[in-house]
Amino acid sequence: MRLLKRFSVLSILCLLLIAHPVTAEWREFKHVAMTTPINLVFWELHTQKAKLISKQVFQEFDNIEHSMSRYIPDSELSLVNQTAAKQAVLVSDSLFEVLAAAMNISRLSEGAFDMTFGSVGYLYDFRQRIQPSEEAIQNSIRSVNYQYVQLDHKYKSVGFKEEGVLLDLGGIAKGYAVDQGIRILQEHAIKHAHLSAGGDMRLLGDKKGKPWIIGIRNPRVEDKQSLIMPLSDTAISTSGDYERFFIDDSGERIHHILSPKTGKPVKGLQSVTVLAADATTSDGLSTAIFVLGLEKGLAMVNKLNGIDAILIDEQGKVHYSNGLTQPE
Ligand code: ADP
Ligand code: MG
Repeated sequence: MRLLKRFSVLSILCLLLIAHPVTAEWREFKHVAMTTPINLVFWELHTQKAKLISKQVFQEFDNIEHSMSRYIPDSELSLVNQTAAKQAVLVSDSLFEVLAAAMNISRLSEGAFDMTFGSVGYLYDFRQRIQPSEEAIQNSIRSVNYQYVQLDHKYKSVGFKEEGVLLDLGGIAKGYAVDQGIRILQEHAIKHAHLSAGGDMRLLGDKKGKPWIIGIRNPRVEDKQSLIMPLSDTAISTSGDYERFFIDDSGERIHHILSPKTGKPVKGLQSVTVLAADATTSDGLSTAIFVLGLEKGLAMVNKLNGIDAILIDEQGKVHYSNGLTQPE
């Protein structure tokens, strides 16, 4: 009798296990933040834990958007833009971190990436097909210069040396959010993950024994890839002239990456993809290299340790940095 009882307990247990197999799985979650679809895939044992982790990651995206968006009138960044010319503003650790990274990339690219490009950038509206007049550009371009920004690393404050300066972190904040998402995954001991926010992505580990297969979009054909790469444990960002743009009456492509010198969309490349250890760097650099153009952009990458890039020029030709080309 006792044996029978034991047997039935065992069989119920077995049945339960079959009904709810405790096997790890790929978990997939989607969100929208920073007007961008966010995709998260990771390997985790427990369904409930996976849900909780995804919530934390997406909450982080929302927090960063709320702090760093220029479209939100009461964001921290908006407050800085309104007051930093009058007096230095104390900011959160995370905003300061992004401002410091943006400053580094502004300096590294000698102002091709310019965190103050906002005063001219804000004159464009790609959805409404609005571009500023030459006069409006000339009036606002005077305020574009990252050297007008003073960052105090001790107090974590930011001040502007001139009136009219407007910060914009659209070229770097998504990458930062991806890095923070990966940090949260790591805190939960996740070893295999893929997190993307539009053109900014980071891969944690591999796809369990295989590399992740990542495609670089053909800049002129939406559902076609120009090339695919097996990758793991890296950040990868693409900046392209096809993300936000319109074609104006004269047939010009008016897109969202602007030259801080002319205040106009940069010509010469269709897309730039950067590989780096973190997504803040890959995001900022992809925008910077797009502005620098083929020769100067490649020259900069080839001087940097641990950074690689793939540039697609106006003819659709693909160019690689030295780290990605075969030694002769
Ligand atoms: P996406 O926003 O599609 O990921 P990017 O990372 O290339 O693309 O960033 C483009 C954004 O960067 C623009 O929408 C704008 O907010 C900002 N930006 C445009 N030109 C510059 C520039 N010269 N320097 C710094 N930021 C820029
Ligand atoms: Mg970028």
